[in-house]
Amino acid sequence: MAPEILIDKSGLTAIRRKVEREERLTHDDGLALYATPHVAALGELADVVNRRKNGLRVGYNVNRHINYSNLCKLSCMFCAFAKKRGDAGGYEFSMDEIMERAREAYEAGADELHIVGGLHPDHPYEYYPRLLRAIKSRYPELHLKGFTAVEIDYFAELAGKSHEDVLRELVDAGLGSLPGGGAEILTDRVWRKLYRDKMGPDKWIDVHRRAHRVGVRSNSTMLHGHIETDAEKVTHMLRIRELQDETGGFMTFIPLRFHPENTPIEKLGIVHGVSSVREIAVSRLLLDNVPHIKTYWIMTGLEVAQICLTMGADDIDGTVVEEKITHMAGATTPESVGEEELREVITAAGRIPYRRDTTYGEVPYPAPAREPRPVVAAG
Ligand code: SF4
Repeated sequence: MAPEILIDKSGLTAIRRKVEREERLTHDDGLALYATPHVAALGELADVVNRRKNGLRVGYNVNRHINYSNLCKLSCMFCAFAKKRGDAGGYEFSMDEIMERAREAYEAGADELHIVGGLHPDHPYEYYPRLLRAIKSRYPELHLKGFTAVEIDYFAELAGKSHEDVLRELVDAGLGSLPGGGAEILTDRVWRKLYRDKMGPDKWIDVHRRAHRVGVRSNSTMLHGHIETDAEKVTHMLRIRELQDETGGFMTFIPLRFHPENTPIEKLGIVHGVSSVREIAVSRLLLDNVPHIKTYWIMTGLEVAQICLTMGADDIDGTVVEEKITHMAGATTPESVGEEELREVITAAGRIPYRRDTTYGEVPYPAPAREPRPVVAAG
């Protein structure tokens, strides 16, 4: 059978025409994108859209993750990271340990710290602005991308303040932007089944709306490969598209591949590489108003991430250095990759690497060396 006939059957030809006319895709179109067996054709279409937006440029950043503690009051079903106090594997970094990591990141030339953790049972609200202020006052060069919407909501509860007030106070202390975590799948069914004690879809959307309104840009994510349906993934993306129409505050969308090991839903198994490629392509096609689609190599491995760069993604995340959330769920990828290797991976995909800051401004490459700055106790 000729490929064109197969493509017709799966609905891609009609969608291709819409893409050529730069027409917005619908929920039904999203379902057709998930239904097609023609992943290569899907990826080619997504690449057309990506090149229209971003040319051949692929961004990466030199960053470091700081997962400051995995102690968490909640127990989401898909989470292998969270521990209770006294559990094996539970940890919390002291302020000095956090500052040491910030120093290492600064000296390694990083542009960004990505700071997220569990909903700590004991830290008072004041701990969080103090943490940001300590880092930012010492290392103003570092962009602090910190705290998921879930953490922001928790801080607001701890402080008895509104989300806006908390966001403003954190910005005053040095917060630069919000990561996209905690969205999971933005439907009530998945929320009730997998993480009903954590903030639900409406609140996640609302925290990002409020962040955008106070001038804090953010990322968006989708955790795929567990109990969600294709229709729920399309709904998820369209909710993000809707908020983006309203605020324009999202910088990127990042499909996150679920890693089941050490979670209560371990029996679900792991989705394979082709699913990661499909999520990238579908999101590039549906999210016509989000400028960037990121392939998060920590979750897919560099090989799959490289393929994603030819099928809709224009960002490969960063050097990371130390990552706990995915690795406690069984990820076998390295925790760190060098800047040169990232550039090679991008170049070998036929794309042009550029070093970016958190908000997608270009950073000179190679970056000038930094003078060591001795660490002082954070108190
Ligand atoms: S996903 Fe977040 S909130 Fe849920 S248990 Fe894990 S660390 Fe806690």
